[in-house]
Amino acid sequence: MPKTNAKHDDCQVFTNVATELSVKPRKSGQGRKSKIPHIAQGELTECSQNVIFPQVTVAPALNHSVNSTGNELQIDSTKTPKFVKFSEKKESSLKLCAFAEKTITLAGLDIAVEDGEIPIGPYMKDRTLKRIRDCSKWVIFATPENFEKLRKIGGFVCNNAFCPICAAYQSRRDGLKYCIMLDGAQDLIYVNVLELYDLDTAVNDYVLKAMKHGVEYVMFELTTPNVKGDKLKDEEKKYAKAFHNLCRWFEREVPEYLGFIRKLEVTYNKQKIITQDMWDGTGKYNSPWKYKFSRMGLKVGDRNPYYDTYHPHYHVIMAVTPDFFYTDDEGKECKKITRELLLEKWRYYMGNPNITQVHIQKVYNKRGEGNSATAEIGKYVAKDSDYLHSPKVFKTFYESLKGTRRVTFGGIFKVMNTLFKERKLDMYYPIDETVYKWKISYVWEGKYIENYRVLLTSEQAADIAGMKYSEANDTDDF
Ligand SMILES: [Zn+2]
Repeated sequence: MPKTNAKHDDCQVFTNVATELSVKPRKSGQGRKSKIPHIAQGELTECSQNVIFPQVTVAPALNHSVNSTGNELQIDSTKTPKFVKFSEKKESSLKLCAFAEKTITLAGLDIAVEDGEIPIGPYMKDRTLKRIRDCSKWVIFATPENFEKLRKIGGFVCNNAFCPICAAYQSRRDGLKYCIMLDGAQDLIYVNVLELYDLDTAVNDYVLKAMKHGVEYVMFELTTPNVKGDKLKDEEKKYAKAFHNLCRWFEREVPEYLGFIRKLEVTYNKQKIITQDMWDGTGKYNSPWKYKFSRMGLKVGDRNPYYDTYHPHYHVIMAVTPDFFYTDDEGKECKKITRELLLEKWRYYMGNPNITQVHIQKVYNKRGEGNSATAEIGKYVAKDSDYLHSPKVFKTFYESLKGTRRVTFGGIFKVMNTLFKERKLDMYYPIDETVYKWKISYVWEGKYIENYRVLLTSEQAADIAGMKYSEANDTDDF
């Protein structure tokens, strides 16, 4: 069994918070040391390198708070909608652990490890599983008075890609990152690149093209017919290869091409019977299946032929120069690459003439706010409601996604990704105008319990609102 106290560097960002908080671990019910911080009143506490919490008002009792006039309020923060959502993710992560234990840990695989010999994976180590189980066992949020936002400013996170809590935060961070990259690339035409960034950036061919012509975006979705679980991994490999070749074609044949962000998403069809929603493309379905089903002679209530199949697909944002779009004789806006041409190329590189579904559309980038493209591409690789359908489905998702590159960047986005990592795009972070009132700590004891609540001073609240996510580790709203 792995040790309770994982190595410091292994605990990633949030254990830093624990150490910086001058935490005195308290004994948990099992009598072993817990990572849960219990902060005594008056201690100098620090939540990140930039935010310091000196002694402040501490609420007198759990689930109670005191307003500025001294009246006691009875707000159970664990019942607020955002927090309920957060708790559900915690429940999901425990469900994942139960599934993993049955299917992808060494015990689950029923493999005896002799002489330390490790079987060929992918499988999940007990230690990884324990980290996921412990994820967000304690967590600290900053919230405004109405609890409309939960900004995470401390806690233990496992940072596992399959953890539903961490994946939800990751998708928020990714969406924000892509939004910043899109804004930054569009500004290349206006700024002094050499002065603002560096020489490498200023001499990059794609950057030079963007500086001269400007940048627009087009998004598209590449799909193939659904596959059974045992074919999923192979299909993903095919996608990666075909996309690589498609991009080479863009580079060669499309002079307006500047680069791409590409993300893999996998969904699972768990619908045994054709429902009305599925037929109409309503509810959780983005597009109607009625055309396909009626061609197959099927109707609502029939057995769904796609039941228990997987649907890998790519979401792509492509940067192009404005010439990519033009107006035809009838005044209609057209794209240099039509849907038909994209479909033809995708069929060719995938080596599959049965592909019928590709979508392409212009992106209207609202600066600083993101757009449908960044929202789409920042989304989960796989929804926990899909991969937690059953242990078998989870195993299929795990085995096919483990070690797969889910997001890749090309051309100008490679440059923007480097600049983002070097913190040179920090000026594009949207401003958080939330007025934070409370710093609240929760512990998981079969359900979340409010551990303590601290009234923030206006300086502390402003510091939290001004945190970049890299400073605050994992701070964005849930
Ligand atoms: Zn996690």
